[in-house]
Amino acid sequence: MLLVRNIRLPLSASEQDAYEQALRIARVPRRKVAACGVSKLSVDARHGKPSLVYTVAISLNEEGEALRYAGASPCVAIKEQPVFVVKNGAAPLPHRPVVCGLGPAGLFSALLLARQGFRPLVLERGPELSRRVQAVQHFSATGQLDENANIQFGEGGAGTFSDGKLTTRIGDELCGFVTDVLLQHGAPAEIAWKQKPHVGTDLLRGVIASIRREIQALGGEVWFDTKLTGLKMQNGVLTGIQTTKGEIACEALVLAVGHSARDTFQMLMQAGLQLSCKPFSVGFRAEHLQSEIERSLYHEAAGHPALPRGEYQLSQHVGKRCVYTFCMCPGGQVVASASETGHVVTNGMSYHARDGKNANAAVVVSVDGADFGQDPRKAIEFQRMLEYRAFEAGKAAGLYGAPAENVRSFLDGTGQLKIGAVQPTYDRGVCAADLGALLPDELADTLRSGLRAYERKIAGYTGPDAILTGLEIRTSSPVRLPRGEDLQSIQLRGLYPCGEGAGYAGGIMSAAVDGLRVAKMICEQYNPQQQQ
Ligand SMILES: Cc1cc2nc3c(=O)[nH]c(=O)nc-3n(C[C@H](O)[C@H](O)[C@H](O)COP(=O)(O)OP(=O)(O)OC[C@H]3O[C@@H](n4cnc5c(N)ncnc54)[C@H](O)[C@@H]3O)c2cc1C
Repeated sequence: MLLVRNIRLPLSASEQDAYEQALRIARVPRRKVAACGVSKLSVDARHGKPSLVYTVAISLNEEGEALRYAGASPCVAIKEQPVFVVKNGAAPLPHRPVVCGLGPAGLFSALLLARQGFRPLVLERGPELSRRVQAVQHFSATGQLDENANIQFGEGGAGTFSDGKLTTRIGDELCGFVTDVLLQHGAPAEIAWKQKPHVGTDLLRGVIASIRREIQALGGEVWFDTKLTGLKMQNGVLTGIQTTKGEIACEALVLAVGHSARDTFQMLMQAGLQLSCKPFSVGFRAEHLQSEIERSLYHEAAGHPALPRGEYQLSQHVGKRCVYTFCMCPGGQVVASASETGHVVTNGMSYHARDGKNANAAVVVSVDGADFGQDPRKAIEFQRMLEYRAFEAGKAAGLYGAPAENVRSFLDGTGQLKIGAVQPTYDRGVCAADLGALLPDELADTLRSGLRAYERKIAGYTGPDAILTGLEIRTSSPVRLPRGEDLQSIQLRGLYPCGEGAGYAGGIMSAAVDGLRVAKMICEQYNPQQQQ
């Protein structure tokens, strides 16, 4: 694929104009082109009259010919196709590998193991997707929470009810492999060329179920409603596992349980494994009108039909901490994301069309091991305490209602909520509360400084209608399970800590990539031939 950057056109230009310009710059004859797409589109408003700045992706009928055109201009670059070859090792593996958790990390790990002939057994504490969707809808409508079937747990893991953003900063070539798999299983074609690809929760669900069916078709087995509850070991080597459906002999376990599996973290610590503290963040969800965000980002060009829904990412250092926005969902909604009874926690999602009225994003401040005396138990307790406080403060809106207030009110510490143009979208309802009083003073003040700085970056960020809903606590795992270069636990051979929960990923793409890395390591060591 070729990428042609820096194509500047007036606001009146169409996408077709951009394609034609790209073909001219790259000197690619039309008959050689399989497809063109917009990889990136931004607005340059610096010199009075705003202009559109395109990056266009060109797929060729013969991709091998891309090199011929790459030198046509400094604006033309090649986007490499991923090459990912795995060769199985020789060591016998008496029992099939077990993958615990069917989020992105577990899903991609199991997929690679299955493609390499290992017939993995996958354990997932939650249900398969259609039952999970019912459980999430039931919770949203009634406030009756199923602790194993919710926004965090069940087939597809935490990102299933999400914006399905595939952006990552890890820059790993395996990202291309993940994208290819998603495309093979029905993700929209544009994710191959968009600079900031997103799938949307509606499309992502079908893709996840389809990947799981490939694992099953290759001889893998998936046990839903099955929780890992214990480890069996001898002399520092894994020999088996305990689950809610009985004991299983196992010499290779991929542990991909996500950042919310607090009971599993506790089980690991009780089994004698040492978890270390890892930085994570806490704060709330900010909601604004999507149109206001776009007015600030695109200026006069706001509302132009070719422009993507406006996205932002902000960060501000305040003393030793960082206040940053995270998981922004254009045209999305705020969702009740608890997995523990009596806890309220927010997150955001959107559909592929991103056509909701509001933009939402987490606004969070970083905390780390130093805040908890390097004790992971204290970090988890801190998360639980904040979620419990949010539950209590949101009760006036009903069961699992959330505390909320206007941004201005938070800055002034008055706990007021006046609903104007921005209608809060949190599905269980919101009530006025002083969010600052739910957080330690120092963190609340740091968040205030961060928000004031954001106003200078996005006009209207602290405007009178903007709303904060809280609390946002599950930003990433509070713990890390140390692993060596062979990706096995440094304390227990055969245990492969993986994905976000183990502290090695932060997002759908990086979790999927980590799942592949771990599976590759198992494949390269073992041979599936003698597996029972
Ligand atoms: C609402 C929401 C929106 C998000 N939006 C985005 C986004 O747009 N883009 C992005 O990159 N990231 C997003 N994220 C974050 C992303 O979902 C996570 O980073 C990613 O899912 C982590 O993958 P994982 O496989 O490591 O863990 P998870 O996805 O958390 O999966 C872990 C799985 O393990 C299972 N499990 C836990 N304990 C056990 C046990 N003891 N036994 C058996 N199974 C167990 C759980 O049920 C779960 O299915 C979002 C998260 C949420 C909650």
